[in-house]
Amino acid sequence: MLAVDVVAGEVVPPFDNSAVDGYAVRAVDLVDAPTELVVVDEIAAGAAAGRPVGAGEAIRIMTGAPLPPGATAVAMVEDSTMIGPDRVRLARAVTEGGAVRRAGDDVEIGDVLFRAGTVVRPAVAGVLASVNAATVSVYPRVMVAVLSTGDELVDDGSPLQAGQIRESNRTMLAAMIEEAGCDVLDLGIVRDDEEALEVVLRDAAARSDAIVTSGGVSMGDYDVVKAVLGRIADMHWMQVAIKPAKPFAFGTIEGTPIFGLPGNPVSSMVSFEMIARPALRSMMGHPSPLRTQVVGVTDVDLRRQVDGKTHLLRVNGAFEDDGRYHVRPVGAQGSHQLAATATADAIVVLPDGPGVTAGADVDVVLLG
Ligand code: AMP
Ligand code: MG
Repeated sequence: MLAVDVVAGEVVPPFDNSAVDGYAVRAVDLVDAPTELVVVDEIAAGAAAGRPVGAGEAIRIMTGAPLPPGATAVAMVEDSTMIGPDRVRLARAVTEGGAVRRAGDDVEIGDVLFRAGTVVRPAVAGVLASVNAATVSVYPRVMVAVLSTGDELVDDGSPLQAGQIRESNRTMLAAMIEEAGCDVLDLGIVRDDEEALEVVLRDAAARSDAIVTSGGVSMGDYDVVKAVLGRIADMHWMQVAIKPAKPFAFGTIEGTPIFGLPGNPVSSMVSFEMIARPALRSMMGHPSPLRTQVVGVTDVDLRRQVDGKTHLLRVNGAFEDDGRYHVRPVGAQGSHQLAATATADAIVVLPDGPGVTAGADVDVVLLG
């Protein structure tokens, strides 16, 4: 994201040039089209404009080549027929300035191209290149350390032993952190061991701008993240009134913010999406920290328990012919069933209550 306004120091295009492959002409010569003209020269893109176009003359010209002096328009090659080695018949009249791209009609010197706070999207990078703004001041990306905790986790591809599962949250969270526009510092899996965890967390605090952990923040006996952070960090332990992703912790460790996400993969995903992502983007001064939200319509009944929580349903969704965003839940909604959630396009925010029936309006957070 740009930290300063970018002012153009160059003109784009830098010279009048042809928008098409064709013949540079004087428009006055084509008033009585079809007309025959003498072809006196040829200019390719990258060549300097050579001799001028005189009365009754044409110069073969390629897209992007500089308009020769005297030319006031370009006739398209599609409207031409060669009728001799250096004679061309042009079938149609052209208007003054036709198929000519004027110097500066994209960018003029002194134009404020982009304001501070503009995200350098691909086309922005292209514009910067077009005006030779080779270096610009930007806000640094936030460096986010990510680690997962749990004695059951394996990430080395080895056969699973009794009680083990493949580590998946870190892979997912690292990708989500990058998607949010941050850099990732991958600190791997940490065993459920207080000393080991303390070492890694202090290291993370020293080397990153923010820390994201998964697992170990609920009520289990081996929830060592909770134990260690309770001791070395300034933490807020929360039971957020949402489902999934109820347990959540936020605090600072040696000044570095830390987000303690729950371990269940869907909970991890949802709490990163709804809580950590906007926070990390705000840290970078991002102009749009939040996802796009729309009022959609559900195609099926969304029944739920009254439990005091806001339910965050993962849904498939699409804009349909009526212009509305239609949703239906992905199959499985369990907090461990990441495979179903991974297909979701959006999250429906369903307030506490009995739910809604098919056709009802629902608040939708669009993912990506
Ligand atoms: P915890 O919050 O540590 O009690 O973990 C809750 C559930 O999430 C348990 O079933 C864990 O095995 C699982 N889990 C925790 N961390 C991960 C991870 N990094 N990848 C996959 N599953 C995990
Ligand atoms: Mg655990």
